[in-house]
Amino acid sequence: MKPPAKISPATLSRLAKLGIHHRSDLLLHLPLRYEDETHLAPIAAVQPGMNAQVQGVITHSEVAFRPRRTLVCRLQDNGGELYLRFLNFYPSQQKQLAEGKQIRAVGEARMGYYGLEMVHPKCRAVDDDTPLQQSLTPVYPTTAGLSQAALRKLIANALDTLPLAETLPDALLQKMKLAGFSDSVRLLHNPPPDVSAASLEQRSHAAWRRIKFDELLAQQLSMRAHHRERGKRVAPGLAPQHRLTAQLIKDLPFALTSAQQKVYAEIGRDLALPHPMQRLLLGDVGSGKTVVAALAALQAIENGYQVAFMAPTEILAEQHYLKLRDWLAPLGIAPVWLSGSLKKKEKQLAAERIASGETLLAIGTHALFQEQVSFHRLGLAIVDEQHKFGVQQRLALRAKGTQPATRQAGCGIDSNKGTEPHQLMMSATPIPRTLAMSYYADLDVSVIDELPPGRTPVVTKLASDARRDEVFARVRAACLEGRQAYWVCPLIDESEALQLQTAIETHETLRAAFPELKVGLAHGKLDSAEKARVMAAFKAGELQLLVATTVIEVGVDVPNASLMVIDHAERMGLAQLHQLRGRVGRGVAQSLCILLYQQPLSELARARLKIIFESSDGFVIAQQDLQLRGPGELLGARQSGVAMLRFADINADEDLLNQARQAADELLRDFPDAAQGHLQRWMANRHDYLHA
Ligand code: ADP
Ligand code: MG
Repeated sequence: MKPPAKISPATLSRLAKLGIHHRSDLLLHLPLRYEDETHLAPIAAVQPGMNAQVQGVITHSEVAFRPRRTLVCRLQDNGGELYLRFLNFYPSQQKQLAEGKQIRAVGEARMGYYGLEMVHPKCRAVDDDTPLQQSLTPVYPTTAGLSQAALRKLIANALDTLPLAETLPDALLQKMKLAGFSDSVRLLHNPPPDVSAASLEQRSHAAWRRIKFDELLAQQLSMRAHHRERGKRVAPGLAPQHRLTAQLIKDLPFALTSAQQKVYAEIGRDLALPHPMQRLLLGDVGSGKTVVAALAALQAIENGYQVAFMAPTEILAEQHYLKLRDWLAPLGIAPVWLSGSLKKKEKQLAAERIASGETLLAIGTHALFQEQVSFHRLGLAIVDEQHKFGVQQRLALRAKGTQPATRQAGCGIDSNKGTEPHQLMMSATPIPRTLAMSYYADLDVSVIDELPPGRTPVVTKLASDARRDEVFARVRAACLEGRQAYWVCPLIDESEALQLQTAIETHETLRAAFPELKVGLAHGKLDSAEKARVMAAFKAGELQLLVATTVIEVGVDVPNASLMVIDHAERMGLAQLHQLRGRVGRGVAQSLCILLYQQPLSELARARLKIIFESSDGFVIAQQDLQLRGPGELLGARQSGVAMLRFADINADEDLLNQARQAADELLRDFPDAAQGHLQRWMANRHDYLHA
């Protein structure tokens, strides 16, 4: 094998911008698309909009000054002519494109001022017998200062000098009908002339499928490695004592649904194991996750361990606090409340009760983790609406779990006597199956797939803003019948200040419009005592109409509220709309959700409203959301920097994802070395530095 070419420091830093840190990364820096320079198009056959390679003689070349300084050349072949136009050009280019030169040009044709033209085509001088390219020309993702030609050369050199060893056993390749790795990589960099350009563009070619499979397989393997590694860590075994939990089940004013019983059994079994549980409890809005969390908490408590129960917003955390306080009071357990908005003194007091172990259940916002709180004997951390915390925090939380036994100042969740807490994460944003199988594959998942009985499905109506008066009449009628309504104010450019202002204005407008009703206002900037007062008044039926910002999106539970108006629904995301709508339909009355929208609708907004109008199934909605937005947005990974899939698309490649899951099982069972080698290539390629 040849020695690899030297790479200059300037080039190295540009490569780093592309995520290429090691020479072998070049091998998997695959083309975005291809240009077809394998044949020439007669100019007469070129249509506007076509990408084409043409060849001819320059019959005229001049620099035009209006509207801008432009080099304009006329290229003629036997049957036609077109113009080549360059806005920024070098004298050398002008010389290359002088009258009489024979030129081959590649570019997109369009109709311009002079007729058919190409703007900034790729040009080169040719002879009559200059050969055509034998294969499609790759176009790579690149960055400023690094030309396609330079990148191609680096990649060609890597292909010549680095091994492209097969990581997968033959038997597996045959069984899964996969192409070889080396052949696939080479083909994608240099597709032979007979390969269909469409199969490359659409990434359906066997070579692409192999690469995507490999990537998905690596993801599966690394998730499983995490999972197995967790099995080696230590957590307190919290076996069910059937004391407090049985008491709560007996005291509840309702019977658990069979789905709730099933998921609690799964959680209860995990807690009993001496390894940290990392379980995600998925259940649609209103499916009754809170009581399952309460049972998990009691199981830890009846083993003498502490529980931290965290929710993303103060309103939600407070509701949990109030609900659990009521449920647990007969059991002699008083939770402690901790949020960032508590006065310093109160916070200190709460922290002391947690640190001393006097309190066994702490409920609150992130303050539980961020403030100077340390737990005496933390056995279980429960995180509600975990998707609100983003992938970053999910990982951070887990990382906290892996800290050594020593207690660190400022870290609430840390371990105790060398163990770490179990984690229960809850979410009402259902994770589409494919996402659950890929990004969340290291978690165990329990699903509540049934709603408590007696719910009537929410009727959803769409109304354009022109029908605002009718909507007002509906609100008035519902409230005068003794029911309650929410009016949700729009998001404004993601700006909290503007949102607040709109909420206050809307509150004024609605108060003026409904003098006979009591209208409350809830938003994120209210202090917590005020917020609690408003929510309590609404819950008690003292307020009939609650104007709110999206702070009520998660967790608010007022069964008598049966009407929800979502103002400017076109600005909201699908998950958000689904969550909001889930605030009604919790009682026996027929509930109605009105999506008030402003014309004109963007295509995306129209698609979203159609989905939310047609479906009330959170899983269906999440699946559609995934299709509209892609997994990055859904996971919040854009901000978090978590490595996303580069090649595979979990929507389009679900079949490969299934294969990769199966292959991961087989490899780990039968070919652990191959599994290791494969992971090495895709995840931990840290030896083969470019500089070396
Ligand atoms: P979510 O899953 O959205 O967090 P909650 O836990 O807030 O749902 O439950 C929604 C409502 O349903 C609450 O009022 C709760 O008390 C009630 N609930 C929960 N489980 C049952 C059940 N098995 N039967 C009747 N009502 C239930
Ligand atoms: Mg909830």
